[in-house]
Amino acid sequence: METMITGVRPTGSITLANYIGGIRKFVEQQYNYDSLIFIADIHGLTTYIEPNEIRNNILDITAMYMACGIDVEHTALFMQSDVLEHCNLGFLVAFQCGVGELSRMTQYKSKRLELGKNEKDMGLFIYPTLMAADILLYDAKVVPVGADQRQHIEKTRDLGERFNKIYGDTFTLPDYQIPTVGAKIMNLQKPDEKMSKSAPKDDKGTIFMLDDVCITRKKIMSAKTDDEAKIYYDEEKKPGVSNLISLMAVVNNMSIEEVVNKYKEYSYKDFKIELADKVCEFILSVQEKYYQYRNDEEFLKEVLKKGALKAKNKANDKYLSVRKKVGLYI
Ligand code: AMP
Repeated sequence: METMITGVRPTGSITLANYIGGIRKFVEQQYNYDSLIFIADIHGLTTYIEPNEIRNNILDITAMYMACGIDVEHTALFMQSDVLEHCNLGFLVAFQCGVGELSRMTQYKSKRLELGKNEKDMGLFIYPTLMAADILLYDAKVVPVGADQRQHIEKTRDLGERFNKIYGDTFTLPDYQIPTVGAKIMNLQKPDEKMSKSAPKDDKGTIFMLDDVCITRKKIMSAKTDDEAKIYYDEEKKPGVSNLISLMAVVNNMSIEEVVNKYKEYSYKDFKIELADKVCEFILSVQEKYYQYRNDEEFLKEVLKKGALKAKNKANDKYLSVRKKVGLYI
């Protein structure tokens, strides 16, 4: 069985975009693979978050991913920092990487500009090498992610290949799996920016999975559109409407063309009303399950512990074999 892996940083409250880009496909396919999901808590430290908030976010994400359909009896759901091999391998992978190529990574260039006055950029700088280790460590073949992670997966392939050339066949080279619809869900108020879970809690353009659905409805009804009053898909000319079409396609399991065909005669208002109905129905069903899981912290901790054990077994074997390949053994 091939391995599938994905990760999520505990840096805020999960958004609908995280569900669409990062986890929806994963849930659908989890039984076809040896499946792993890690909460990327070390990656999360690239910017300062109050420690207690990180801890809460980790438990929130665990409950949320289970509510979204992750079956922890099959899929190992664990904290990255519980499996130290991620960092160990990250170090060895970094040695195959040039300072120049890391400094040209898009995310490094953009995110370092957002750092606070007292925050340093080394975590961002080595993000791609740690992420490569996260994936190579498990010989993962499939990595479902949003479009924002494309360059990181390409770098992972590069680094794996580089290592294989020097030390002989060691790592499986992963393929990213970016959803055909909803690869990059945009902020409802600023449709030229991606929807991000680092947005402030009261951001009107971000749909948080745990928002009261009345708030979600309001956010959708006030989403930015345009003056044309015509429903068709054009990301350049109509970023707001196109974003809503993508959301509608995802929640209805339809293609973009099917959505446009079905709704082309609708007013923006009526289109938004139907979209809000669908999104809220989905979110409510997730929330119901979420609160059942979230109320039992001991259970969630147990889930993460069990997940870490499963992951650690695989990671340990792989890391040992890498040590041998590079000569770190006697
Ligand atoms: P992060 O929020 O960076 O921890 O990302 C967790 C997962 O959600 C990754 O697979 C991302 O690619 C995905 N993701 C994050 N934001 C978006 C977005 N706006 N649209 C689609 N996928 C996203």
